[in-house]
Amino acid sequence: MKIVMLGAPGAGKGTQAKKIAAEYNIPHISTGDIFRANIKNGTELGKRAKAYMDEGKLVPDSLTLELIMDRFAEPDCASGYVLDGFPRTIAQAEALAKSLADKGDKLDFAIDVDVPDEKIVTRMSGRRACAACGGTFHIKYNPTKVEGICDLCGGELMIRDDDKPETVQKRLSVYHEQTQPLIDFYNNAGILMTVDGTQDVDVVFNSIMQILK
Ligand code: ADP
Ligand code: ADP
Ligand code: ZN
Repeated sequence: MKIVMLGAPGAGKGTQAKKIAAEYNIPHISTGDIFRANIKNGTELGKRAKAYMDEGKLVPDSLTLELIMDRFAEPDCASGYVLDGFPRTIAQAEALAKSLADKGDKLDFAIDVDVPDEKIVTRMSGRRACAACGGTFHIKYNPTKVEGICDLCGGELMIRDDDKPETVQKRLSVYHEQTQPLIDFYNNAGILMTVDGTQDVDVVFNSIMQILK
């Protein structure tokens, strides 16, 4: 199963992607998580990506593609994956389609988690992330048992640098300009599925399961 998650920043792509990955026992690949891990570890790639991320801009396609193609070469990708935050531009989507086609392969589904902009800012301002394990929570919609502590690993939760309201607005406009066109791209490819992302996490997940089964 090869799945792409589409949707605005904060729509719940990561939350749903983790659940799909667990259900199908396939890797959850988040380019944002990989970039953040590189920043944390002070790698060259992390240094190059950070300036763009802090401004709410996309990391250039060349850098992103280099990173994701390396990831696809790892053995756990053989049985499929759920992509979260990639592709984000038409050029990335075309590069992905080509690399799959070269192996006689293709994507199964692109799932658009649809949430209107006005709901996004509240989602993002309450998002809390665990730097240690990548767990994602929300102070109101998905609170942890102990405030500030990750339920999954006991790590300390943090607010992402790019979840400040000003940066969220910038990311939303970048989304509408550069990423939303992928909805038409995958609709034309005949694999687009849309779910109402404003519902509760479990309701959204059930809608996705109906589609995948
Ligand atoms: P969110 O899940 O809130 O949309 P991500 O973790 O996916 O955020 O991405 C955070 C940032 O990382 C983006 O704003 C962008 O700067 C960078 N990024 C992640 N994935 C990509 C990508 N495929 N292409 C370019 N930049 C990316
Ligand atoms: P994305 O990967 O699209 O940026 P996340 O999965 O990180 O989005 O979700 C953004 C924030 O919204 C997180 O704090 C998450 O806990 C919360 N969230 C995710 N899905 C829902 C939902 N269906 N209803 C309410 N809050 C949600
Ligand atoms: Zn954790």
